[in-house]
Amino acid sequence: MDLWSHDRFTFPLPANHRFPLSKYALLRARLEAEGIARPDEIHECEPVAWEWIEAVQQRALVERLRAGTLSVREQRGLGLPWSAALVERARRTTAGTVAAARRALARGVGMNLGGGTHHAGYDFARGYCLFNDVAVALARVRTDGDARRVLVVDCDVHQGDGTAQALAGDPDAFTLSLHGARNYPFQRIPSDLDVDLASGTGDADYLEALDGALDVALRRCAPDIAFYLAGADPWEGDRLGRLALTKAGLLARDERVLDRLRAAGIPVCVVLAGGYAEDVRDTVDINAATAAAVAARMRRMPHVVASSG
Ligand SMILES: [Zn+2]
Repeated sequence: MDLWSHDRFTFPLPANHRFPLSKYALLRARLEAEGIARPDEIHECEPVAWEWIEAVQQRALVERLRAGTLSVREQRGLGLPWSAALVERARRTTAGTVAAARRALARGVGMNLGGGTHHAGYDFARGYCLFNDVAVALARVRTDGDARRVLVVDCDVHQGDGTAQALAGDPDAFTLSLHGARNYPFQRIPSDLDVDLASGTGDADYLEALDGALDVALRRCAPDIAFYLAGADPWEGDRLGRLALTKAGLLARDERVLDRLRAAGIPVCVVLAGGYAEDVRDTVDINAATAAAVAARMRRMPHVVASSG
């Protein structure tokens, strides 16, 4: 299965920082070891063009990110120390989502081993997110002429405020976010459909809420492409999660989202979003299971080609 990764590109991070910088290389190694992808099937991207980012985010913000001239307040909100390497890496993972979206439109499903930076909005970049990769990828596939209408299924445990803002007022976009009610971001920007889950929500209640939300979303939009943010942070052991899903529950979630979108004939681009387990190998387990679920579906649909939207 073709995948995109930016795992070789790192950036300076203080010791004991919560951002799981080591996850990406471990995930690549795991997928290769388990035969989910061959080494030559895991691709690297060149950094996305600045113009592609400026097509969806405020030019002045992009310029501050590029030059490292964020205000103290912006720097604190971002939560990652600025460096040229940080910015380049963010451009590479954004390019991975563009490539995976194009693959989804050609083959029914595509996956980036990164991305899902949903706290980046039109004029802000916070919560470890510099660029909104989904908004950038959507703009590209629209420019390609391969899709117009979009559904975002955001299952990261944190509400998708940046995506909601970046796509607000877009009549061809429907944003769905399932997240912990009492969790970051504490000042929300409403999605088209927000599902607040109580702290401690487990597998059964989560899956029921997900089904109901997908029912509503699929009634209210007819997308040409979907982006699925398969966050690992609803896991019961996550340090920033507050929900109580098991690894089996998270896999059931992935399968539910993938199968419902596929049954509706909607190409789906999968991105990782967050995951902050104490032991990074737990996050890798969850992300690898997502990739295996995607791979299983890819094998069953080798000749599917989506029609132009
Ligand atoms: Zn998250």
